[in-house]
Amino acid sequence: MATETYKCPNCGGGLLFDPQTQKFHCEYCMSYFNEEELSKSQPEASSEMPPEEAFKEETGGKETTGSEEEAGAVLYTCPSCGAEIVTEETTAATFCYYCHNPVVLSGRLEGKWKPDAVIPFAFNKEEAVSRFRQWIGKKKFVPRGFFSEKQIEKLTGVYFPYWRADSTAQGSLTAQGVKKRTWRAGDIEYTERSYYRVLREGRVDLEDMTFSALFRGDRSLAEGVQPFDDSAMEAFRPLYLQGFQAEKRDMEKDQFRQRMEGMTADYTKRFLMDTINGYQSLSPSPVQLHGLESKWQYALLPVWVLTYRDKKGKLFYYTMNGQTGKACGKLPVDIKRLLALFLGIFLPLLILLLIGGYLL
Ligand SMILES: [Zn+2]
Ligand SMILES: [Zn+2]
Repeated sequence: MATETYKCPNCGGGLLFDPQTQKFHCEYCMSYFNEEELSKSQPEASSEMPPEEAFKEETGGKETTGSEEEAGAVLYTCPSCGAEIVTEETTAATFCYYCHNPVVLSGRLEGKWKPDAVIPFAFNKEEAVSRFRQWIGKKKFVPRGFFSEKQIEKLTGVYFPYWRADSTAQGSLTAQGVKKRTWRAGDIEYTERSYYRVLREGRVDLEDMTFSALFRGDRSLAEGVQPFDDSAMEAFRPLYLQGFQAEKRDMEKDQFRQRMEGMTADYTKRFLMDTINGYQSLSPSPVQLHGLESKWQYALLPVWVLTYRDKKGKLFYYTMNGQTGKACGKLPVDIKRLLALFLGIFLPLLILLLIGGYLL
């Protein structure tokens, strides 16, 4: 399978995508290039896949992608130095261990694996570290030694695979509504209940339902950093992965179809119910969806990932949205600091109460 390192047109060094400038940077000659400048010098870096490639994928299906990929072969050759690169089955972009050049495993990004879209990283590692520190700073009982310099070095920018769906459907809903009226005449109280059959129908469009398409790892962390902002979405180009890691999906959209349908039904129900007013009580029947259509997109989205192993060897995972900075993950709690607070507030309060009790 092909591996690529998109090279600097000046000196041939490996290019890195720079989130701060949204340009491609060469660390060797310190140049910056925008995409237009690069596409002139190496058209394959930014151009669409050649048509015969697409054709082969569509007709060949699984067989033509090769047993190598399906079986998760993990050895590749670095295009810069020729060293062997070890990868996970789902790795799509990484670094060469020996020459530190960025390597894109383009074979894992072609044909049916070609992402439709990418949101590039919006801030670099330094900023990710400082945002992460801020996030921890807000939590009171995190152990003081947590997140040392050594841990920071393990912060990695990873493009995670996601499925995104837009759906549209005609929804209808019936509900029984009750109106109650009470009045008095002399000694007698009258109550009148009127029952209504309420009917609502409407077309609902839902956008950007996002599902993590990576089965291995902690899925809640890939889903917890949502939402991503679509306005920065770009058509996929492998160049964006240079200098980051990237994972290829190991879940297909069919595995999320049921969830997508459920979300569409829930939203439609809420939307239709919101239009019914003026009843004392309302009991709706399940919503009916007609002509549900969905459009799916396979996207690589930017996530900073940090792992931390505590003294007992327990592994903690954290993720941060590489576009918005939203962080996710359970921070460890320092029992001693929690206890100190407990003793600092609760105990004096208890003493005060006791004194108060004695004085009364
Ligand atoms: Zn250069
Ligand atoms: Zn190398």
